[in-house]
Amino acid sequence: MTGKNFLLAALEAISHNIIEHEEELNHLDNAIGDGDHGTNMARFSRIILTDLPELSESNDDLGKILHHVGMRCITEIGGSAGPLFGKFYLQAGQSNTNNTTMESANWVLAFEEGTLGVAQIGRSTEGEKTMLDALFPASRAMQEALEEGLSLSAIFQAGSEAAKTGVEFTKTISASKGRAAYIGQRSIGHQDPGATTVLLMLQALHKTAIEMNVE
Ligand code: ADP
Ligand code: MG
Repeated sequence: MTGKNFLLAALEAISHNIIEHEEELNHLDNAIGDGDHGTNMARFSRIILTDLPELSESNDDLGKILHHVGMRCITEIGGSAGPLFGKFYLQAGQSNTNNTTMESANWVLAFEEGTLGVAQIGRSTEGEKTMLDALFPASRAMQEALEEGLSLSAIFQAGSEAAKTGVEFTKTISASKGRAAYIGQRSIGHQDPGATTVLLMLQALHKTAIEMNVE
């Protein structure tokens, strides 16, 4: 079971991991888009880092914390990734309304609902070379790990490994959604930046779960 301390530590780790990879994400987006994905996500991450002390003081409702993160992403971040990752956090928050703790099942549900939220507002699905090619497989792998009775860190590890496979898969397909769709077949061979961000999020969650020794 995890509480506010874990959620805030996880948000901090996710933010740092994205900021550390800002240039790589821009580089990936440069090849198939407009080169701003790292800038967008790092800006969002810096805002969240600034908000953390206040969140730590003011709120024990984990759903509300996730909702706050989603609203910040939607209102402050440009590009497609702002509304899309914003919706992910909003839905993850909604699936944890009034929760002051999150069990493994709550984390898995948060990912599932968040993923469906992205698909809904992106009008997109798997196989279109987007963040969903990491989110859907990760969500499924986490559900399976939960059903096997694995620990939360093992659940995040399973999600992370599935996201990694999904990121590799994005190299083999052409884009039919987002900016990369403009170059169609020429996007083959390039890795999707949004899917890469999902991988960075799951790697940070896995690392935080190990460090904080959560069950
Ligand atoms: P923009 O494309 O507006 O410059 P970003 O560069 O920040 O925004 O984000 C690009 C990422 O957004 C892509 O790598 C892809 O993963 C994701 N994306 C774009 N359109 C969609 C969509 N319709 N559904 C899901 N993900 C999408
Ligand atoms: Mg871009």
